[in-house]
Amino acid sequence: MNYSDAERAAAKLEELGYKQALDDKDADLILLVTCSVRKSAEDRVYGAINNYHKKKLYPKLKTIILSGCMANRPEVVKKADKADIFLDIKDLNKLPEFLKKESKAGYVETYFSVKPRYQSSFTAYVPIMTGCNNFCSYCIVPYVRGREESRSSEEIIAEVKDLIAQGFKEIILLGQNVNSYKPATAAAIKDFPDLLEYLAKLPGNFWLSFITSHPKDLSDKLIKVIARNKSAGGGSAFGGKICEYISLPVQSGDNEILKKMNRKYTISQYKKLVKKIRKQIPGVAISTDVIVGFPGETEKRFLNTVKLFQKVKFDMAYINQYSPREGTASAKLKDDVPKIEKKKRDKELNDVLIQTALEINKKLIGQVLDALVYQKSKGDIWLGKTRTFKVVKFKSKKNLLGKFVKVKINKAESFGLIGKSIDSSKKL
Ligand code: SAM
Ligand code: SF4
Repeated sequence: MNYSDAERAAAKLEELGYKQALDDKDADLILLVTCSVRKSAEDRVYGAINNYHKKKLYPKLKTIILSGCMANRPEVVKKADKADIFLDIKDLNKLPEFLKKESKAGYVETYFSVKPRYQSSFTAYVPIMTGCNNFCSYCIVPYVRGREESRSSEEIIAEVKDLIAQGFKEIILLGQNVNSYKPATAAAIKDFPDLLEYLAKLPGNFWLSFITSHPKDLSDKLIKVIARNKSAGGGSAFGGKICEYISLPVQSGDNEILKKMNRKYTISQYKKLVKKIRKQIPGVAISTDVIVGFPGETEKRFLNTVKLFQKVKFDMAYINQYSPREGTASAKLKDDVPKIEKKKRDKELNDVLIQTALEINKKLIGQVLDALVYQKSKGDIWLGKTRTFKVVKFKSKKNLLGKFVKVKINKAESFGLIGKSIDSSKKL
């Protein structure tokens, strides 16, 4: 979400006459789009702002703008007083006023209406909503991003159509919980599955995916929409348009901890949901987010998360060590798992993930997968992303950046695949 916000902020600055500096040392203005989810992220921003004040390092710098989540935290605004401007991203319209510049584009209804300066020419992040109403006890997002606000479906459709016309190959829809998407207007599109299916039916050669889904809200309707738009015949050159990838943050494998986290589902419900998804969407990849060391997470309770990892076998997991966030409900609980223990649990879960992800990836050996090439590595090695968000390495002398290719998998690692591009195999 921050990446996407930064693309809108960059567009606004360009409109005011600024040009992107190749190196931050040459910049006369720096706008930071910050994250408050963990303390470590905030600490890095304080460090960066202090650094920016070193004239020897940043001789041209005149203005530091602090935006993103941190700008909406009064205690941060006090502490980061070396920043010149604090900007709520929703107030992008006020940027000309803050910088005393004339805006040519004029007023736009919401910050979503600012046309982004996309950083890539083939992958685009499209926010469909902002904010969150869930108030998980550890999470700062509802306090800094505010309540859920859904973007109008007309505006989203217009942005996606424009991206397709420009030749974008991958469109990733964003929301803290896309399943809460509720547009105020447009009778035909009532919820997220309606929106996803509408976009999947647009003509063009592109992939559609979305992050992220709260397990309590992922509906049967959504599973059906993915299932019927994922197989060949959906219109995309390779398979259907909706990618077989679901990010389904579980946060803990222990029911008592889930209750304390205010997650509103049990592990048995989560496992049933995963089973249903895997049955109806064969080949789907499921990733998760998890927090280790939440207050009250005894060794026994943590082992329930280990067991869940062993049982579910995730394709990927983002493991976070608990960090109390002032103002949230869990910050009032004693942060009773020592840092060293959090680190140990992080590693233990990662070790399970390394094994299970490898097991899953090995099953792909011999298969031909579609990939979108996103980066050139050393030599003639290219990195592609499969429809299930797996990195695949292969060799080619052709310039394949931003192109769809077919790759035959011949080796599997826990967090990646190695293969041979069949389109250019004769030349290898
Ligand atoms: N909306 C998503 C969901 O329902 O899970 C997650 C969004 S949150 C911004 C991203 C991830 O940060 C969470 O899934 C959680 O694992 C992690 N996170 C949030 N607050 C945290 C905290 N206080 N300490 C450690 N990790 C945290
Ligand atoms: Fe945070 Fe929970 Fe909302 Fe996700 S659903 S953003 S974890 S409050």
